[in-house]
Amino acid sequence: MNLSEIMRQDSNRLKEALGLDADEARIEVQCLLQAVLGVNRAYLMTWPARELDADESSRYSGFIERRLKGEPVAYLLGEREFFGHAFRVTPATLIPRPDTELLVELTLQRTDEMGVRRVLDMGTGSGAIAISVALARPCLEVVALDASEAALEVAIGNARKLGVRNLRFLKSDWFSSLEGERFDLVVSNPPYIETNDHHLQDLRFEPASALVSGMDGLDDIRRIVAGARNHLNPGGWLMLEHGYDQAANVRDLMRQSGFAEISSSRDLAGMERVSMGRA
Ligand code: GLN
Repeated sequence: MNLSEIMRQDSNRLKEALGLDADEARIEVQCLLQAVLGVNRAYLMTWPARELDADESSRYSGFIERRLKGEPVAYLLGEREFFGHAFRVTPATLIPRPDTELLVELTLQRTDEMGVRRVLDMGTGSGAIAISVALARPCLEVVALDASEAALEVAIGNARKLGVRNLRFLKSDWFSSLEGERFDLVVSNPPYIETNDHHLQDLRFEPASALVSGMDGLDDIRRIVAGARNHLNPGGWLMLEHGYDQAANVRDLMRQSGFAEISSSRDLAGMERVSMGRA
């Protein structure tokens, strides 16, 4: 089969197997072909009659068969773009979502307005948030922690690959290893999905420890909100990503813990996705 036939046939297979829309399915097939052939998208358009050789064909089939079973493209390629940088991702880390760029943008905005110097990213995973913030503001001192050794290895590799200098990593189960350290801004995209949420079926290739957080999805957020003021300088900010229907609960938790100037911000889909408060 040539490129044009593969794109047509496999877009349809992906559409049917995974319920993707036609554009998504076509883009995914193109991504996989680009990775196998080491070419850009223009090449695929320019050479529709190009045939795959035996080696290319077997690597491509490996990818598409795994994708048809639901494995995310980011894990097949081992890479996902976030905030303009290419991050290595493995099944030890959550795949960075476009929604989370809102958290980075709000962090940078607060940083500029408030003269923030020290930032903490809790549950850094692939390092997407901490590295994006550190690269955008080289004068900040950023600390990123995670309880997962395997995730930290991925994050450290990403920091090295992207040339970050103002970022330190720490293995810590939330605040457990932080001792007396204090920050001007604490940011986190913690697990926030309910234990029985049926969406977890679609997320089955990603680590449950990065996704699931008790019956109401708020167990980890409760721990973070309760502990954050001990690690914030006076006037410092806590900024959390959460589920589309959790904003009011998160604001309540912040209020109960003594935070002020509490508010929520909406993501690209118009959902309240990030809430923040001031110590
Ligand atoms: N935004 C992710 C999803 O719903 C969840 C991320 C998280 O739990 N932090 O797919």
